[in-house]
Amino acid sequence: MAEDQAQTAERTLVLLKPDALVRGLAGRIISRFEDAALKVVGVKMKQMDAEFTRRHYFDLEERLGSEVYSVTSTFMQQGPVIALVLEGFDAIATVRKIVGSTYPNQAPAGTVRGDFSHYSSAASIASGKAVANLVHASGNRDEAKQEVELWFEKEELQDYRTLAEIYTY
Ligand code: ADP
Repeated sequence: MAEDQAQTAERTLVLLKPDALVRGLAGRIISRFEDAALKVVGVKMKQMDAEFTRRHYFDLEERLGSEVYSVTSTFMQQGPVIALVLEGFDAIATVRKIVGSTYPNQAPAGTVRGDFSHYSSAASIASGKAVANLVHASGNRDEAKQEVELWFEKEELQDYRTLAEIYTY
């Protein structure tokens, strides 16, 4: 087993962004995670405000600049989001693989972003809007820990065993 692969179950945060909800794709996207035997251990719907968006994307402005931060912040507040905590071995990397790369035009077919969108960075610059890419997923272990703690209280996360766990692990 590679050293960077988790040997115990991990938790990761997923957001179904406002474009996923207004397009009626929430169920189909959640199915993709369930299909991969990831376990939903937390779920909530929330309307983000400017302050909470800043806390979630606390380093985005520094990483990608104020223009990208501004359009992304507006986009994330356009409507409610669904937040999920998913659990499984290598859940963080597995979810990123299922979601695909940031720009849907570069995300392979078979991924959520590649199958349900085609927008590019260039399209985003031309329209002055954020890249509407349906899903957020934690990028690494530190981010996952920090994001799960931001979005969920401990008692909002559930403990149960799926059939996949009972029969597989
Ligand atoms: P990811 O969501 O894949 O982890 P980032 O954290 O780098 O990617 O970016 C956060 C979000 O900001 C992206 O998901 C996207 O909605 C938006 N975004 C990123 N880059 C751009 C860009 N060049 N133009 C507009 N929006 C962008």
